[in-house]
Amino acid sequence: MKFGLWHLSFHFMPKFLQQKKGAKTKKKAKTLLQSPKGMHDILPEEQPLFLKIRQVGEKIADIYNFSKIDTPILEQKAIFERAVGEATDIVQKQMFTIKSRGDSQLVLRPEGTASVMRAYLQHGLAHLPHPLKLFYEGPMFRYEQPQAGRYRQFYQTGFEIIGTEDPIYDAQIILLAKNFLEELKLKKINIQINSIGCNVCREKYKEKLLAYYKGKQNRLCADCRKRLVINPLRILDCKNPHCEVFKKDAPVMLDNLCSNCKTHFKEVLEYLDEASLIYNINFHLVRGLDYYNKTVFEISSDEFDFALGGGGRYDYLSQMLGGPKVPAVGISLGIERLVEAMKIKNLEGIVVRKPKVFLIQLGSQAKKKSIKILKELYEAGIKTAEALDKDSLRVQLKAADKSGADFALILGQREVLDESIILRDMRTGVQENIAINKIVEEIKKRK
Ligand SMILES: [Zn+2]
Ligand SMILES: [Zn+2]
Repeated sequence: MKFGLWHLSFHFMPKFLQQKKGAKTKKKAKTLLQSPKGMHDILPEEQPLFLKIRQVGEKIADIYNFSKIDTPILEQKAIFERAVGEATDIVQKQMFTIKSRGDSQLVLRPEGTASVMRAYLQHGLAHLPHPLKLFYEGPMFRYEQPQAGRYRQFYQTGFEIIGTEDPIYDAQIILLAKNFLEELKLKKINIQINSIGCNVCREKYKEKLLAYYKGKQNRLCADCRKRLVINPLRILDCKNPHCEVFKKDAPVMLDNLCSNCKTHFKEVLEYLDEASLIYNINFHLVRGLDYYNKTVFEISSDEFDFALGGGGRYDYLSQMLGGPKVPAVGISLGIERLVEAMKIKNLEGIVVRKPKVFLIQLGSQAKKKSIKILKELYEAGIKTAEALDKDSLRVQLKAADKSGADFALILGQREVLDESIILRDMRTGVQENIAINKIVEEIKKRK
């Protein structure tokens, strides 16, 4: 490999470089450093899919009148202990904790909803018109065993409707999620929905559930034996075949809702019916976060065996964080999951436009002039590619061809003297000479 720097004569080198060159090189080769386990780079070739998902998110947010909110990646640990729940896997095993200088323990956020509510309360957003619709997009972090499609740093986008108890917004959020997937051209959308009740009816239901599982403890998996004590609802979520067999006879939350929760759920379903949205009631859907109540749902496609998003109502979250009562409902979608689904279905992302012009220069005078020509093209908004570090015409023409540019501008020694430049149509090979001060005008004329 050739580096321009070493072509300079030693004499003209700054002193620190001279010393460096003279210094003894270490014999042992350094190991090539890698990204942290489970944390992935999103390389240029994957960006069109990520960009597409972001653009669809922004379009949906705009149409449904959501405003964007960004919260820090670091939050106080207490937020998730209170909101997501101290007994949940996320808080017990999956948070990246950071030791900071002060007393407070910081964590890399494992999810977005609690942060949005924290920001809502902290900045007194209650004065804004309600219901307040907020959306976010960004990286989340969970310390999990990395596997296909599951990362320790992953991206989520979420939509939250804050300050309303009205079941019509549960339906609107679900509809929005369906629109999101359909905008990405994903098909066979599958919506699973359930109600996990309120603090009153859920507590009574938990007792029934515990009574049902009494005597069956020893036949449950180790996780579920713990769940019996800390969060019995999660037993319904267990995919372990030993636990599955007991599910079908277990009491069902929907049969045990109080009249308020029952009416709420019925109305959500009526609104979904009104929107001709097909859903499946799933008695065993509970979602793994403490802040949920009443409606919970998951959205996926029958074409994949993984969920694409999920959410629910979280009327108690504000109070869990020390605020007043602020009912709300929301959804989050996993961006890597959406990317995976789009890849499986060969769906297109945002195609980056090709450069219109490729600038070729020959000789030192022409190279010098190139910087000024590029500036003019930039100011005119003409997308331009180049290979200014190359000096062969053949190499630069090849690069121009590869770039997909429609036109090449070729500036040689003679053209510099003539104050002209060659404009070559890359599609036809036709070349013409134009005045150097007419470049922008001439290019704009041509399609
Ligand atoms: Zn209830
Ligand atoms: Zn289990």
